[in-house]
Amino acid sequence: MTLSVHSVVGAGLSVLARANPLTAFVMGLFSHFVLDAIPHWDYPLKSGSGGRSAPMYEDMVIGRDFVFDLLKIIADALLGITLVMFVFKPEFRSLADILTSGIFWGVVGGMLPDFLQFLYFKIKKEPLIAFQHFHTWIHEKEKKLNDRNIIGPALQIALIIFCIYLVPLSL
Ligand SMILES: [Zn+2]
Repeated sequence: MTLSVHSVVGAGLSVLARANPLTAFVMGLFSHFVLDAIPHWDYPLKSGSGGRSAPMYEDMVIGRDFVFDLLKIIADALLGITLVMFVFKPEFRSLADILTSGIFWGVVGGMLPDFLQFLYFKIKKEPLIAFQHFHTWIHEKEKKLNDRNIIGPALQIALIIFCIYLVPLSL
């Protein structure tokens, strides 16, 4: 799923559970794999060695396409962080506030697996290999909605809206 969804869900869970940083991180991480196991859409990344039809589980080729992919990924991550800041309004006045915040660690846990995937592409050493096998296995279990360019993103937006409304209501 998109980093936006992963970050909002990771932050939302940490808020719901009033989690400390470690618990929030673990919950974020766990939620990443649960979300990836749900049939979903992913935006295309052209630098993936497998191309659009076979998602890039092996490498991302650094080049012109990669620059555009990177911009997409950064925009996605920033959108997620912005939504988290607006919806959950964490009080970050200092670096210490950020580093001791469950919301921050929920977002980190939620996004981390996709960054580890990139590290695997470039390093291909344990424990990244084992991690990549697990991540791929989770993804393979769901039937992708990658060719559903309306319903796919719509479902993710719905999921974000669901979290934005449900989490504050549950507090
Ligand atoms: Zn993932």
